[in-house]
Formats: sequence, C-alpha cells, structure tokens
Amino acid sequence: MALRTADEYKAGLRDDRKVYILGNKVPDVTEDPYIKVGVETAAFDFLLADHPEMHDLAIMEEPSTGEQVSRYFEVPDYPEAVAKRHELVKGACSVADGALPFVKDVGTDIMNAITAVARIAGNKTYLDRITEYRRHCAINDLTLAGAVTDVKGDRSKGPSEQSSPDYYVRVVDETEDEIVVSGAKAHITASAYADEIIVIPPRAMSEQDADYAVSFAVPANTPGITQICRPNFRYEDAGHFPTPRPRRGHVEALVVFDNVRVPKERVFMLREWPAAQGLAYAFSAFHRFTAVTYKIPILEYMTGLAMLAAEANGVHKSSNIRERFVNLIRYTETTKSLAKAAALDPQNFGGSGLYVANTLTANMAKLHFASQFHDFVRDIQDIAGGLLVTQPTYKDWQNEETRPYLEKYMGGAGEYNAEQRLKLMSTLHHVVASDFAGWHEVCSIHAEGSFAAQKMMLLAEAPIKDYKSKARDIVGLDG
Ligand SMILES: Cc1cc2nc3c(=O)[nH]c(=O)nc-3n(C[C@H](O)[C@H](O)[C@H](O)COP(=O)(O)OP(=O)(O)OC[C@H]3O[C@@H](n4cnc5c(N)ncnc54)[C@H](O)[C@@H]3O)c2cc1C
Repeated sequence: MALRTADEYKAGLRDDRKVYILGNKVPDVTEDPYIKVGVETAAFDFLLADHPEMHDLAIMEEPSTGEQVSRYFEVPDYPEAVAKRHELVKGACSVADGALPFVKDVGTDIMNAITAVARIAGNKTYLDRITEYRRHCAINDLTLAGAVTDVKGDRSKGPSEQSSPDYYVRVVDETEDEIVVSGAKAHITASAYADEIIVIPPRAMSEQDADYAVSFAVPANTPGITQICRPNFRYEDAGHFPTPRPRRGHVEALVVFDNVRVPKERVFMLREWPAAQGLAYAFSAFHRFTAVTYKIPILEYMTGLAMLAAEANGVHKSSNIRERFVNLIRYTETTKSLAKAAALDPQNFGGSGLYVANTLTANMAKLHFASQFHDFVRDIQDIAGGLLVTQPTYKDWQNEETRPYLEKYMGGAGEYNAEQRLKLMSTLHHVVASDFAGWHEVCSIHAEGSFAAQKMMLLAEAPIKDYKSKARDIVGLDG
C-alpha cells in the first residue's frame, strides 16, 4: 500500500472508534469541530512526500520491500539518523504552520525504545515482533499515538499498592495467543485520530507489579477502548480574525482499556518487570529530543509575532522593548542551540546499535525550554499590551455599525492599519492569552515529562565523577 494521501488517512478514521467529547459520542472524528483541528494538523504528515523541500528527508525505502515509506519508521542504526530526524521534525512543523503533525514521532520513539531494549536484552521474540509491527505501520502508512502515562492514582505508591488495581494498565488474562488488558492512560495526544495506539509502562516496576509490566499495540478502534477527549480550541473560535493559515493544535484523551484483547504478536513486554524501568528510560531518551525539536519552530513563530506587534504599536525601537526582544531571542536561540548540539552528538544507546541524541544535552534543552516558557510568554504579553485581552472581535469587524469605529480607532503605527493590527493581536491572543495559551503553558511543563524527569536525567547523565575528580585534583585531596 505504502504512502497514503491526507484524504485516505481521514477516511481510515471513520472506523467506528469509540470517542467522546463534551459528554457526547463523536460519530466522525474528522467532522467534530474540536477534534478536526487535530485531524487537520495530523494530516500535514501526508503532505510531506510531495513537498519539494521535505521529500528526501521525509521519505525512505522500506528495507524489506523497497516501497516508499515515511522516514519516521527508520531504525536509527547509523549516527547521522539523529540529525536527519531533527531536520524532519522541524521541517514537518514548518510545513504544518508551526505545529507538529505528531502522529508518527511519539509512536516511532516508542518503537525505537522497544527495539533498543530488545536488542540489549537479546530478546529475539520481541525484536522480531517490533520489527514486523514497524514494517506493518510503515507499509500501511499508519499513524500512531503513544500511551505511556497511566492515571496513577496515588503518586506515592506503585501500581500494585494502589486502592484500585486499574490505576495502571495491566494484564488481566492470558491465553496462548492473546492477552487481555485493562486500565487507563491519561493525556494521550492525538489518540482520537490515530490509527494505532502503542503502549509501554511509564516507570520502574517491582515483582508485585509484574502484571503491569506490559507493552503492546492495538488499532484505536479495538473493542474495549473508549476515549474521552477534552477540547483545546476549535477553528471557528468566536471572534478570532481569520488567517490564511488556520490555527493548528492537538487534542488529548483519557484512553480507557476495558478488557481489550491483544494478539501476542503485538505484545512487546509481558511481565518482565525488571525491564520496565529500562524501557521507560529508553523512551524518554528518544522522545525528549523529539519534544524539544518541535518546540523550535513554535518559539521562532511566537518571537516573530511579538516583534510584529511591537512594530504595530510603534514601540519596536524603544530600549525597554528591545530588552524584551533580547530575552525572546536568547531563550529561542538557546533552546535551538541545545537541541542542535544534542542532534550533532549522537550516542549508541546502551550499545544497542540504535542512535539517540546526546541525552544530557537533550534533557538540558527540554528543561531550559520548560522552565523559562512562562517568562517568555510574560515578555510577549508585556510587548503586546492590553489589547491582547480587550480587543474587539472579528464579529465587531464584520458589523457595519461598529467596523467604522474600529477602522478609525484601532489603527497602528507606520504601515499597520486597523485590520492588520487587530489580526496580529487576535493571533497573539490565541497564542498567549486564550484557553489554548493556558493549555500551552501547562503542556510546556508536563508534556514529555515534568521538570523532575529531566532533572533525574541530568543527575544520571552528567559527568559528575569528572567534576569531582577535577576539584579533588585542584584541592589536592589525594595527596
Ligand atoms: C498537553 C499534554 C500532552 C501529553 N501527551 C502525552 C502523550 O501523548 N502520551 C503520554 O503517555 N503522556 C502524555 N502526557 C503526559 C505527561 O507525560 C505527564 O503529564 C507528565 O509525565 C506528568 O504526569 P502527570 O500529569 O500525571 O502529573 P503528576 O505525575 O501528578 O505530577 C505532578 C507533580 O508531582 C510530582 N510527582 C509525581 N509523582 C511523584 C512522586 N512519586 N514523588 C515526588 N513527586 C512526584 C511531579 O514531579 C510533578 O511536579 C501529556 C501531558 C500533557 C500536559
């Protein structure tokens, strides 16, 4: 089958999946006013093959059949694969108007983690299964959501210590050919409009947790899966000025597994509890780098918007505003440089032969991004002024009685007329002052792991022995 079109992707989503939003069952996710924002963002993935600047980066030959497939499915078994993926993710975001299509990267980060762990453990069964699954997804050009985060109940307790046995996804039954799983994964991006959901455990497990040490993949319409989504925004958001390139974004879901049957050939970990931590760690090594890569086009775009707003307000040459510009540039370019440095220093993950970006640098990039994003937003809000939240809406612009007042009073500096200024402010409102902006701030902290996850990686990966030995040398502690 190989590469699909965006329309074929959308047609594939009309598959009787069980999805709810705002209390209602969704008959067709491609038509729901909230979920279709995500569908349209994801659909950009299918435009990469025909994009002149992206084709070579985005497409490769599937090794066993020679068919053209998405490069997301590449096994990164040579060092340069990491920098290629960095360019692919950044490029995909630029094509998708600043948002990541998101339906192949997290899933393939999970495939890479499973492959690396199976190779390190010498587990041929799981290696063969994940290789076949990767091939299946590649040649059918499938989209995937990655389900890692469980609902977790009491965070201070492990899976088997919870008041409910279902606070982490677990195996509830097993036959020779299949397993049956129950539980729920929270905050899963794009699962409502992905073809497949791939699951791994999020943490270390003890022997008592063995049933929770489970990894598998299932089609999103498998009986027993119910998805409960929350809206982020909709295209027709009342009052926003329309722009030629509409706003992009994704939708998360609570994904419930209620006695879901999974054939064994799609199971990649089954009760090997000592390996759960290694798999979670491997996933974060692959995924945190993807995460920080896709932030770069977003930061560049937001910085650009703030600078245009300053021009529209006529304050772009003032020293106080230029100081804010310096903050925006420093933050954006430091995030970019750290991500690039990680890409240019690939590591053979655990000797598996799969390459990841330098994990220390990638985690520093993510921590830098996450810990200063709110300051970045504050600077943009300062630059843009109060119109961010008080501006008259597009509906007032359309009203013949009020529009003349807007034309008369809302004009900006220099070349900026009222319509241009309001368009800019309306876009900025979406980015730094809307419900979506609140989602984005929380996303910057928690998605792809909260601060503590990156700090743990820093402590694990930093050359602490070298730091100490240099200090011992200088002080002369060893005589
Ligand atoms: C927009 C968005 C998209 C996401 N997309 C996905 C996705 O596609 N797939 C996926 O699997 N996940 C996804 N996530 C989940 C994300 O990885 C988690 O939000 C993150 O790991 C934090 O988990 P939590 O939200 O359950 O918060 P919590 O675990 O409740 O964390 C809250 C705070 O408690 C601290 N904490 C938690 N446990 C402990 C402990 N035992 N001891 C001390 N401190 C603790 C944390 O460090 C943090 O400061 C997404 C999240 C967001 C916000």
